[in-house]
Amino acid sequence: MATRKTLFVLLDGIPADVIERVETPNLDLISGEGGYTRAYVGGEVGGDSESPTVSAVSYQSLLTGTWANKHNVWNNRVSNPDYGYWGIFRIAKAHDPSLHTALFSTWEDNRTRLIGDGLDAAGGMKLDHYVDGMENDQKRFPIAPDSGNIKNIDTFVASQAAEYIAAHGPDLTWVYLQYTDDMGHRYGESTEFDAAVRFADDLLGDIWQSIQARQAKSGENWLVVVTTDHGRKEKGGKGHGGQSSRERTTWIVTNSTCRNDRYYKMPGIVDILPSIVEHMKITMPEEIRRHLDGASFLDCP
Ligand SMILES: [Zn+2]
Repeated sequence: MATRKTLFVLLDGIPADVIERVETPNLDLISGEGGYTRAYVGGEVGGDSESPTVSAVSYQSLLTGTWANKHNVWNNRVSNPDYGYWGIFRIAKAHDPSLHTALFSTWEDNRTRLIGDGLDAAGGMKLDHYVDGMENDQKRFPIAPDSGNIKNIDTFVASQAAEYIAAHGPDLTWVYLQYTDDMGHRYGESTEFDAAVRFADDLLGDIWQSIQARQAKSGENWLVVVTTDHGRKEKGGKGHGGQSSRERTTWIVTNSTCRNDRYYKMPGIVDILPSIVEHMKITMPEEIRRHLDGASFLDCP
């Protein structure tokens, strides 16, 4: 197993001004080792790469390092992704098939449709470990008021991630939590939304502790990147999808100490993939690398 490892986390639908206002002690611990920056999603306004500030569109931009005009995910239906733009898990496995990959997610489509886990069209690569699909298991997670079921699923997903990372230390892990976006859609700017953000931060804290324990014990070199997929509408804060500044403005927290200037100049969500590649010292096929829309915000020794 490699000693360079990466965890990236996506907390859904938290505008930069909200993450900056609400108390998030665990994010603060991570950024205290590295940094916090505002960032953006949505591609170039008015340009070919302009992409809806919609969840799955941004997840695929994170996973592939490209905007929607390339990866071809324009909405949450994910009808016809262009797998010719490889995702980070495929890139990692092509570089070194022994790299151990893991996904913990409150939305199953992240694996089955965006990553294209096991699909021939997506290269046939399979994740080594995943925990997802609970949103379709209403026996175990019955629909509850105020998205209480999604809150419970996030809790389960995060605890599974914390346990698995502590025990196995996968090389490349994605954790996706959804509850914040549900509460944003339901309540907009509200104490309920703020509480959901604090709740996500709590869950993140357990995962961060697992990583800290591993680093202290083994000398593993972990990159942690935490981000969101879009902001919210200026007025009321319930919706998103457009190109307003508040919908486009996101944030990236990392523990990395090798951040370069790009990190502080409004990086895009497409810069996360090249940064992971830089930290992990992954060699990418040239035909994949040259189509990337992002560049690394890390320069690691
Ligand atoms: Zn979202």
